Amino acid sequence: VILLDDLTKEFPTDPPVRALSAVNLRVERSDYVAIVGPSGSGKSTLLNMLGLLDRPTSGSYRLDGIETTMLKDSARTTVRGSRIGFVFQSFHLLPHRSVLENVMLAEVYGRGSRKGRRERALRALERVRLSHRVEFLPGRMSGGERQRAAIARALMGEPALLLCDEPTGNLDSRNTHAVLDLFGELRAQGMTIVVITHENEVSERAARRVRITDGTLAEE
Ligand code: ATP
Ligand code: MG
Repeated sequence: VILLDDLTKEFPTDPPVRALSAVNLRVERSDYVAIVGPSGSGKSTLLNMLGLLDRPTSGSYRLDGIETTMLKDSARTTVRGSRIGFVFQSFHLLPHRSVLENVMLAEVYGRGSRKGRRERALRALERVRLSHRVEFLPGRMSGGERQRAAIARALMGEPALLLCDEPTGNLDSRNTHAVLDLFGELRAQGMTIVVITHENEVSERAARRVRITDGTLAEE
């Protein structure tokens, strides 16, 4: 469960930029929230906050009851690695490594032995239906397959929360639907999904849509 209370983020530029302004948000387990809004409105800043990649200037962010703003960097890294998965528009797969190796290389908390990592990676690839592609190089796969490989990598830490920034921005309509179907399956397994998107196809499938304008949130 995500709980944001008056979360504000100001970048110390000259003049300072207030990218998020007293944002309040509650996201329950297994929820699917789309965040929409114009360029520069604060979407990525919000996702970076939710992913513990950056710290707010003020306000509170509780994740599964943990007040994250109080945590040291090392504890934040542990919480991130054990609870949160990330998916981006560009897949960030290493071109000269197989799909399996790419997934195995995921930075996760408590990564364990190479054998254990391999088994986890194979399970993650099964969840995204890429068992037939484990030995492929990314360049030999379709965009949709590459994004599913990136999602498998995000699943390696067995996160309860998946944060996605324009996950279908590089995909055609058919592959977009394949990724959205996969999100639906992950949700049915209890995953919480927060996705930034410009595409109606994506936000229409979400349980909730939240609009961000100049750093302020409004539920639609
Ligand atoms: P887009 O749709 O183009 O990705 P966005 O909604 O993700 O836009 P953000 O990247 O969150 O927008 O940026 C929100 C505001 O904060 C913008 O005014 C941006 O210029 C500013 N900003 C973002 N990151 C930084 C930073 N590291 N330093 C200073 N200002 C920043
Ligand atoms: Mg952005």
